[in-house]
Amino acid sequence: SKIHGTNQYHFFNASMSDHVNRRNLLENELRAALQNGTLSLYFQPQINIGSGEIVCFEALSRWFHPELGTITPDEFIPIAEDAGLIVQLGQQVLINACKQLKVWHNQGFDELRVAVNVSAKQFLLSDVAFDVTNVLQEYNLDAKHIELELTESLIVDDPDKIIGVLNQLKKLGVKLSIDDFGTGYSSLSYLSRFPLDVLKIDKSFINQLTTDKKGIAITQAIIAIAHSLKLEVIAEGVENEEQLEILQRLNCKYVQGYYFSKPISANDTIAFLKNHNIF
Ligand code: C2E
Ligand code: CA
Ligand code: CA
Ligand code: CA
Repeated sequence: SKIHGTNQYHFFNASMSDHVNRRNLLENELRAALQNGTLSLYFQPQINIGSGEIVCFEALSRWFHPELGTITPDEFIPIAEDAGLIVQLGQQVLINACKQLKVWHNQGFDELRVAVNVSAKQFLLSDVAFDVTNVLQEYNLDAKHIELELTESLIVDDPDKIIGVLNQLKKLGVKLSIDDFGTGYSSLSYLSRFPLDVLKIDKSFINQLTTDKKGIAITQAIIAIAHSLKLEVIAEGVENEEQLEILQRLNCKYVQGYYFSKPISANDTIAFLKNHNIF
């Protein structure tokens, strides 16, 4: 079938399984999708274990291509980074997440926060603090309701530049979260040098809570480090009650995962907020 592109037509057939062709096709299609604003955002709730309250939704990019079907972020985010499209993508995500935050606040859920993933590349190639300032002003939002999820890869690149920008964001009042904690290469020392608020335990550790003898010990150690640095802790990838109970016992305060909800559309978040009764 025909796919809109630059100025040539692509035909999707068996030969397209060739990696390079798919890579180039997706790059062109992604550029078009960003121009046309056809990427969407899904939202996954983050829950306070103690109160059962939804405190935040993480915004996750979704690409439903009319002909190629669903393309996962694990495939298109790296392409966006390589092709220099990640800044535009990240700016659109920030704007759309804030638009949705305004909707929730207007519906009376006015303590709710939104968490946005920011790629290390985006951080290095654009002025994230400037973009955040503008979008907060545009939608008349308080910075304390915005959380940025960063990864450890950010930290290895250019610590001094990064610390400067993070301090700017911190001064604005934005919450800073370290995502996928424990999976990167960097040393633990950055945890105290960077102005972070939240540590997000990677789902691979949560998965090990019930499958690996040392799983609990590792997660317990991560939580201890976080608490000693006065960071809030959230566990991602919580899929069952057993994991939830262990996390509760380990004093992990926040959770996110399929056990509570998969990422859902903006429309579905309203019903979820009104009906949710998790405990
Ligand atoms: P992430 O930031 O670590 O997001 C968590 C991923 O785990 C999401 O995958 C989410 O759907 C999935 N997940 C949530 N709960 C569970 C669970 O209980 N079990 C399992 N197995 N998985 C769970 P998703 O949406 O496919 O996103 C994958 C990655 O793509 C994200 O990982 C993030 O690194 C990146 N990404 C997604 N959207 C954006 C974006 O807008 N900007 C940037 N820079 N990266 C994004
Ligand atoms: Ca994330
Ligand atoms: Ca993560
Ligand atoms: Ca991840």
